[in-house]
Amino acid sequence: MLKPSSIKSHSYEPTPATGLVAYFSMEIAINPLMPTYSGGLGMLAGDTLRSAADVSAPMVAFTLVHRKGYFRQMLDADGKQTEDAQPWRVEDFCTEEAPRVTVSVENRIVSLRAWRYDVVGRSGHVLPIYLLDSDLPENSDWDRRLTDHLYGGDSNYRLQQEILLGMGGVRMTHALGLPINVYHMNEGHAALLTLALLESQTGGGPLGQVTETDIEAVRRKCVFTTHTPVPAGHDRFSMEQARRILGAERTDRLQSLNCCHEGLLNMTYVALRFSRYCNGVALKHGEVSQAMFPEYKIDAITNGVHGPTWVSEPFAEMFDKHMASWRRDHLYLRNAIAIPFGEMLAAHAHSKESLLAEVASRTGLVLNPKVLTLGFARRAATYKRADLLFHDPERLLRIAQAAGGLQILYAGKAHPQDEPGKALIHNVIEKAKQFSGADLRVVYLENYDWHLGAALTAGVDVWVNTPLRPYEASGTSGMKAALNGVPSLSILDGWWIEGCIEGVTGWAIEDGADDVAEAESLYHKLETAVAPTFADPEQWARLMQTTIAMNGSFFNTNRMIKQYIGNSYYPQTMNLPRPQTVVAETANAR
Ligand SMILES: *Cc1c(COP(=O)(O)O)cnc(C)c1O
Repeated sequence: MLKPSSIKSHSYEPTPATGLVAYFSMEIAINPLMPTYSGGLGMLAGDTLRSAADVSAPMVAFTLVHRKGYFRQMLDADGKQTEDAQPWRVEDFCTEEAPRVTVSVENRIVSLRAWRYDVVGRSGHVLPIYLLDSDLPENSDWDRRLTDHLYGGDSNYRLQQEILLGMGGVRMTHALGLPINVYHMNEGHAALLTLALLESQTGGGPLGQVTETDIEAVRRKCVFTTHTPVPAGHDRFSMEQARRILGAERTDRLQSLNCCHEGLLNMTYVALRFSRYCNGVALKHGEVSQAMFPEYKIDAITNGVHGPTWVSEPFAEMFDKHMASWRRDHLYLRNAIAIPFGEMLAAHAHSKESLLAEVASRTGLVLNPKVLTLGFARRAATYKRADLLFHDPERLLRIAQAAGGLQILYAGKAHPQDEPGKALIHNVIEKAKQFSGADLRVVYLENYDWHLGAALTAGVDVWVNTPLRPYEASGTSGMKAALNGVPSLSILDGWWIEGCIEGVTGWAIEDGADDVAEAESLYHKLETAVAPTFADPEQWARLMQTTIAMNGSFFNTNRMIKQYIGNSYYPQTMNLPRPQTVVAETANAR
């Protein structure tokens, strides 16, 4: 059996001059009107590609079309979630490419086409995203539905989708004539691309005859990013399933190459086994992942968000006025410490007004723009503990009274099959009904998505995050808030370990032995640090300045994509490819 450690590094180095990076992701938040994403992973993928286009990186991307969309969330008066499909019209946004490719799934031949969506960077650079689609008349009815539902169906459906994404995607790069020299697997969902590369390496010959040289040739081209320390977040399939759907020969080969773990085909192991570079998505997550997979070297590149996508209109105008170059290079945001307090407070008041108008139009509730407003919006996964704020509701109410009022805005979807997640939403809404009054107003907003995410992260005063350590790999919504001068009050996990400077960029909820201790710290910080600072506009404006200067300037994908290029894709050069066209720094360049 070949051991990863026996593989020698090779003299061949891919460079931007010789080809393209192909970025593979099961979900990508491409356009606010295309429901092709479920949450943080898809947002990160979209923000990565938007920044890659901005810096004219030589990249293309592959995903599935997800014709039925990720679901629309409805909440009834009792806080019970129901779901609806969100079908969308592909041809309204994308153009069809001519080639067709086929992959074998469960001994059937499935045909695929690709729809192209062009992401246009700030200098006019075009980065194509290809959305693979099996809805073709030559396919069976079952196969035509394989690219309909993001994270829908059972694990059989999921494995079939992963074959289409990974193996179909690689074949599509060949059919389109794209000179790919780096394949980036964004999470293990895309890991089967390595199998397609291995098969083309052997010219379609029997996988049993694969040599170490073939494997090394694949490894030279592949890089991998792992996104979660939650074990259930790593895709695993039974050997029976894998033999039946992927095929016995391929499954046996993967097994002999160390890609199985605890008797299951494990997509994280497939990706690790065939990658020359692997990373986690924040420093702590890199360490946690390294401990989970000690036989592989795992680095860390901390996530970011795409500035021009998440900076609200009033802040973008203010940045353009004071630091016009921020759009090209977000390090210029460091100079936010020179923006006058009055302008900073006015810009935030403006964003807050827009958010409260949105809340009023959705719910009929009129909130007070003068009152301290907290935001908490994210997938309703249990480890995120959306109900920690309500651990002691009477205490929360007393804090609200002492602070002259407190408003809390919630949003977030639970996966349709996640009953504990749904129970969490129900619980928050029940508590909100019970304790809301003149001093404490709590609102749970339906259908958290791109648009609502942007309004919330820019418009609240403080962004709250309460994950159970160490399960928040990174988290990115707090970074969107930081770009808008909104400080965080969060558990020291994921990106916040790197981003928290107490009293300068926000506040840490101190590590505790259990929920009780961490809720206690949350209340204590709210009472003794957040509310008193909020009561002093000068101190608050200073905090906003330093939040942007320290965190907005760093936790963005403009910095992140340069780290991927220099550390992962093309490690021999830290130099970026030159932009093809140069435009003046104007507000219109976004
Ligand atoms: C940013 C974003 C996320 C990810 O936020 P986390 O902080 O990682 O939980 C999820 N959903 C939407 C709609 C977002 O905009």
